[in-house]
Amino acid sequence: MKSLDLNTRRSLATPRGIGVMCDFYAVRGSNATLWDTTGKEYIDFAGGIAVLNTGHCHPRIKAAIAAQLDCFTHTAYQIVPYEGYISLAERINSIAPITGLKKTAFFTTGVEAVENAVKIARSYTGRSGVIAFTGSFHGRTMLGMALTGKVAPYKLSFGPMPGDIYHLPFPSATQDVSVADSLKALDFLFKADIDPKRVAAIIIEPVQGEGGFNVTPPELMTALRKVCDEHGILLIADEVQTGFGRTGKMFAMEHHTVEADIITMAKSLGGGMPISGVVGRAEVMDGPAAGGLGGTYAGNPLAVAAAHAVLDVIRDEKLCERATVLGQRLTDRLNTLRATCPAIADVRGLGSMVAVELNDPDTGEPDAAKVKAIQEKALAQGLLLLSCGVYGNVLRFLYPLTIPDDQFASALDILSNVLAA
Ligand code: PMP
Repeated sequence: MKSLDLNTRRSLATPRGIGVMCDFYAVRGSNATLWDTTGKEYIDFAGGIAVLNTGHCHPRIKAAIAAQLDCFTHTAYQIVPYEGYISLAERINSIAPITGLKKTAFFTTGVEAVENAVKIARSYTGRSGVIAFTGSFHGRTMLGMALTGKVAPYKLSFGPMPGDIYHLPFPSATQDVSVADSLKALDFLFKADIDPKRVAAIIIEPVQGEGGFNVTPPELMTALRKVCDEHGILLIADEVQTGFGRTGKMFAMEHHTVEADIITMAKSLGGGMPISGVVGRAEVMDGPAAGGLGGTYAGNPLAVAAAHAVLDVIRDEKLCERATVLGQRLTDRLNTLRATCPAIADVRGLGSMVAVELNDPDTGEPDAAKVKAIQEKALAQGLLLLSCGVYGNVLRFLYPLTIPDDQFASALDILSNVLAA
């Protein structure tokens, strides 16, 4: 088998359900650069899907993991606890944009954070209903996929879905859905499908990630908070993709005047190590009984050590400010490109969570094929780009916030070439 090329071995050894975007194989990463088996170099604007706000193999994160490696790698926190987990919870409690006493629990993946946020909300409220949004992405487990507001490919052939989950249309200018439309749908939902007194939580991404980098309008967040307060519903902000500096703030909820009751986090918290978390109002977090939350690897010591270093790096290298600066540079360049690339239908985002939507200029229809072609051209020139959006017609940019200025400028030049072509 070793004599076959890696792509052939991959298709023989692993299922097609794990769809793989690139046909090259990583061997090394450093900050915003990735090298493949042939020695080709890529500027990484995918960041392992929003995990690498602090870049590949940041020396301080490596050192923190190495130091922990010399002590112990696993005890199962629920069996034998360790201080690093507690101090990380204390740090998250002190920075999360929720007023009053807070508590934090750690898990391993983003979807586990989402699942646990819903478990906590159900346990605290004694209710079962959960409301999510179209175009949302909350993960690939049974509950995560049921909450996710996109059928293909996430829900195809996997039913039945867990019950008592409802979707509201997410506001979108390009899809002609207003905030008023979303709120009207919520009214209809309460009339047609579920008594608000049976709803445990509304879950929303402050900026939809996989759904197309759609920024939640502040007036929607404010209105949801009001509805939640009126009916005793909890507001869950899914910050798995938006967290840890990406939007120019530590948490994207800091852009809003209202607060969530619970926030989920993962991805860039670990700087490449698998760790996720749920922070929330202390009394809410204490809803589930002892033993109701956890997991064998939840809050793994190596990942906890990495997360501490990530928080240090974001603070010391001022990565929130850097996200705002880089995001503005990218947005300005994309707006300039509108003159030569009529397919650009929208440039949007928050901080460094920036995306460009491409439509057919003649029909106005979403142009996923153009996005794919641009990704391929960019890759040939050494720039790794990700797509997103319900129609697959959005390019998103998830570069490390630690990327050097000259490399960022080179990436924008490649982007200009491929968009203008
Ligand atoms: N929520 C959001 C907002 C996400 O973007 C993702 C991952 N793209 C998830 C949940 C699921 O995270 P994971 O893949 O780590 O389970």
